[in-house]
Amino acid sequence: MDQQLLALIDLQALDTRIAALEAEAARLPKQIDAIHAALAETKKALETLRVKADTAKKDLRTKEKDLEFITSKRTKAEARLWEVKNNTEYSAVLAEIEAIKQEKAKVEEEILALMELQEHLVADIRDTETQFKRREAEARQDELVVRKKLAAVEEELAGVRGERESRARELPRSLLSDYERILRARGGVAVAAVTPSAVCGGCRVAIRLQAIQELKAASQPLVCESCGRYLYWQESA
Ligand SMILES: [Zn+2]
Repeated sequence: MDQQLLALIDLQALDTRIAALEAEAARLPKQIDAIHAALAETKKALETLRVKADTAKKDLRTKEKDLEFITSKRTKAEARLWEVKNNTEYSAVLAEIEAIKQEKAKVEEEILALMELQEHLVADIRDTETQFKRREAEARQDELVVRKKLAAVEEELAGVRGERESRARELPRSLLSDYERILRARGGVAVAAVTPSAVCGGCRVAIRLQAIQELKAASQPLVCESCGRYLYWQESA
């Protein structure tokens, strides 16, 4: 086979490999980003729980102060029972004490609910912290695996690119620039095989019998009349 044609076939194989490796090298960092994003989600959930717990703690402190105030209000009202001068005043103070009792019961209920909420939040935070630590360790492992893969891909890419450069130097400059132009224009495929089915492997258009003979002889690179790709004869698919 013609040396230039052989070089073109090799170049195409190398460029196809390079394109696949470049896609992989672009995809892997996104995978690392996704690992970080998932971990950030868990961390955010943890932060939200901590804020809620903080709010519950503050609310509880406020309610406890309210309770202190209500208790002192009741003590004062009860002391006034001894100072009243008539039944009307006595009844009024009693009614006031009754209202204070109801107020106190309400605040006590609220305090209990807040304590319960706090308990739940503490348990939730503990669970989420455990989850976060586990996921953090997993994420570190996963990232390490992806980074190793990425390093391997980049190393291979450098090797294949080097190989490609030296192979490309074997072609005349004009043929190489034609090849590269077709490669860009035709979705990364500039060299296509023609099998006994007699169609261009790139665009599936039938190849003329005359051209098939020339392809079989393979004395020089031929191009597909339809898509412009370089063609070579391949006995079996
Ligand atoms: Zn074609």
